Amino acid sequence: MGNLLTAIDLRAYYKTVQGEEIKAVDEVSLEVREGEVLGIAGESGCGKSTLASVLAFTVIPPLYVVSGEVRANGTNILTLDKETLRREIKGKYISIVPQGAMNSLNPTSRIKNFVIDVLKEHFPEMSKEEALQRARERFEALSLPPRILDAYPHQLSGGMKQRTVTVISTLLNPKVLIADEPTSALDVSSQKIVIKLLVELLRKQIIKSVVFITHELPLLRHFANRIAVMYAGKIVEVGPMESIIFEPLHPYSKLLISSVLVPESGMKSKRIEAIPGVPPNLKDPPTGCRFHPRCPSYIEGICNTSVPPFITVKSDHIVSCFLYGGEHG
Ligand code: SF4
Repeated sequence: MGNLLTAIDLRAYYKTVQGEEIKAVDEVSLEVREGEVLGIAGESGCGKSTLASVLAFTVIPPLYVVSGEVRANGTNILTLDKETLRREIKGKYISIVPQGAMNSLNPTSRIKNFVIDVLKEHFPEMSKEEALQRARERFEALSLPPRILDAYPHQLSGGMKQRTVTVISTLLNPKVLIADEPTSALDVSSQKIVIKLLVELLRKQIIKSVVFITHELPLLRHFANRIAVMYAGKIVEVGPMESIIFEPLHPYSKLLISSVLVPESGMKSKRIEAIPGVPPNLKDPPTGCRFHPRCPSYIEGICNTSVPPFITVKSDHIVSCFLYGGEHG
């Protein structure tokens, strides 16, 4: 199976009104493989949502792409014009369910009007009835009652709203679905139903891959194939789910796992430990390893002066930390 999406040395910054740059995504390289759920985990403000926006090319100022590529089907989509992106990429190759998407439904309009708008934007010649028929069939295929289409958003529970916007975002059969914190506002049982829906979309091959963004790393244990851990605008560790959850390498990944309220069975840490310090200001991130001011394994004179390269430590498991490989490992 190949890569459906590949980010290469991607930098995306925000520009403040004072002209300062916030380095939200910095030198990120990552691939999304066909058939997988790729989890991207990290604390709030680490750049996960910005990365999701750039991968889906929903880049709205003050965010801008400084450099790098996002390759889909051999093309760097960052170089495509708006019309080509609309015609060939957005919704068709990559679809995103942004954070809080369920709250963006128009409260004064029935769900079906949103569906008609989405489909007619891409297929202007499609009739309203055809658009609704397509939506009804998709809802039925995923065990969602089609009567939802006649409802107003306030008539649906949070979990149902999230499932509804997720299904609508797949009406054009995108290859990659990016779901940004789709479960963060939901109770545990609604979380499970949303995750089950994503897995079902993959199983039925309606979509080919899922990128699942979350601040709850252990949640990924139930369905992710691989996990990328992000800290202060950078990816610091990527590997198979079991390897990251049960044998994390990067000190930040270890703390992220042990900071959850309910550690799951089999995980190394059973104690709840707060991650010391606070995430850095990305206007002026720390030199060297960005995690060094908070890292319990910090090596003076090394971690604060040089950026650790990525090292392959285990099969398909890479980490950016001086504790592994090289002269300091
Ligand atoms: Fe900690 Fe140094 Fe590794 Fe960074 S490079 S995570 S500061 S040990």
